Amino acid sequence: MDNFDYDLFVIGAGSGGVRAARMAAGFGARVAIAEDRYMGGTCVNVGCVPKKLYVYAAQYGKGFQDAQGFGWESTQPRFDWATLRDNKKAEISRLNSIYRNLLEGANVQLIDGRASIVDSHTVAVGEKHYTTGKILIATGGWPHIPDFEGSEYAVSSNEIFDLASFPQHLVIVGGGYIAVEFAGIFNGLGAKTTQLYRGPLFLRGFDTDIRAHAAQEISKSGVDLRFEVNVQSIIPDSGSFKVRLTDGSELQADAVLYATGRKANLDGLGLENVNIRVSQQGAIEIDHEFCTSEPTIFALGDVTGGIELTPVALAQGMAFARRNFGSLDQQVDYDFIPTAVFCQPAIGTVGFTEEEARARFGEIRLFKSSFRPMKHTLSGSDEKAFIKIIVAADTDRVVGVHMMGPDAGEILQGIAIAMRAGATKALFDTTIGIHPTTAEELVTMREPWTES
Ligand code: FAD
Ligand code: NDP
Repeated sequence: MDNFDYDLFVIGAGSGGVRAARMAAGFGARVAIAEDRYMGGTCVNVGCVPKKLYVYAAQYGKGFQDAQGFGWESTQPRFDWATLRDNKKAEISRLNSIYRNLLEGANVQLIDGRASIVDSHTVAVGEKHYTTGKILIATGGWPHIPDFEGSEYAVSSNEIFDLASFPQHLVIVGGGYIAVEFAGIFNGLGAKTTQLYRGPLFLRGFDTDIRAHAAQEISKSGVDLRFEVNVQSIIPDSGSFKVRLTDGSELQADAVLYATGRKANLDGLGLENVNIRVSQQGAIEIDHEFCTSEPTIFALGDVTGGIELTPVALAQGMAFARRNFGSLDQQVDYDFIPTAVFCQPAIGTVGFTEEEARARFGEIRLFKSSFRPMKHTLSGSDEKAFIKIIVAADTDRVVGVHMMGPDAGEILQGIAIAMRAGATKALFDTTIGIHPTTAEELVTMREPWTES
């Protein structure tokens, strides 16, 4: 064995890094992991976990309103931001300790501090140098805020969870996952929420029908959703901000959240000391085995600019460890990755959009249904669910399912398994539904949709 301090040095204890480190150690490798900010990375600290807790908080607001049609009477409930924020903080601290214990329990050496690559076998953390057989870069991403007059007053998703006081009026810029999710959260918590998107229709990359349905439902829910507009400047104005827009209008806001994408986190990583290719977008280039252009250095997760989702980083971490330390030739299968946008109601999607399916399979059959979920027959809410199934005509295989409705994320996880198993529309049709649910619509859509 080579005379290195470690077999593997992982930089970044987020979703991908922790999983790779634990599994490699499980295969008997001597592993160290460096983390300079928070155990568990983005997902645990400023991503999926606190976001979902805030989504739950936001849903209560509407729940109280909906309950009245079911006979519940109450005085108007009051929301306390500090309680949510501080309870969230306590839960995240608990998770941080769990991650630390998991790594220590797996015999992974934890090194607190920012790591920098010195050469292809050496990593520095502070004054200390560590030698290693392999280096894994799993440093994730960082919010990107464009430069404009007053951009220093904008906050990112890193700060929004812990604002000192609740923003009575929040302006959100962007039309991707984060912007849409936080519009739902703050609108649900009672803030006047304005979401601005620079193009004609937000959620680029999602199926067009879902994007249109989401625009309709999100506007109905109370978010002031505006397209074809951007921010020109943010100017402090007696304790709040004057936000000038490109259409000449002006908004007064207590906070401005920029959710305009994330960039690979390469700051101070020492890439100049090795031969690692970085893409035009600033992400580390890798092949399907996570190899960079430097033979002993690997990378995975958000830092590689692929699909920025925790389960993808986890799958990559496992495949990396199995291949490099378990002698198992396992590759990540990127087909039919399901995903959800946790707006209200949620969007769940798996497989191809209509446009992609047409390009790939030629003839397709579409099934669409827009309906009022049973709960809203009494709640008084005019919220509508939407489901779309896309079928490749020659094989009858279901190649896309897109949904906006209650618990869409929960529902689509199961659908993703069926689709990966190659389920046909005929199989959906012969599956017996669970009644009464929103999900049963997935097995009762008989008539193909035709343009009227
Ligand atoms: P990260 O989890 O970002 O971990 C990287 C770690 O490296 C960090 O802890 C960082 O501090 C550390 N680090 C960086 N540089 C150094 C260095 N030089 N030395 C030492 N340590 C370093 N995904 C989902 O699947 N579902 C969701 O609901 C979801 N919600 C999200 C909500 C928000 C607001 C955000 C921002 C993201 C969300 N994501 C979600 C995406 C998900 O969080 C990421 O895809 C995932 O965390 C990527 O994991 P990673 O291991 O690549 O990087
Ligand atoms: P996205 O890439 O999803 O969206 C960025 C948005 O910002 C797009 O609408 C983009 O517009 C817009 N934008 C970019 N630059 C500018 C600009 N200069 N001015 C105005 N608008 C701009 O990034 P997010 O930050 O929302 O999220 C990052 C990633 O994190 C996601 O892609 C996702 O992978 C992951 N994530 C996953 C979640 C989940 O699984 N539920 C939740 C949150 C994040 P345009 O479309 O025109 O380019």
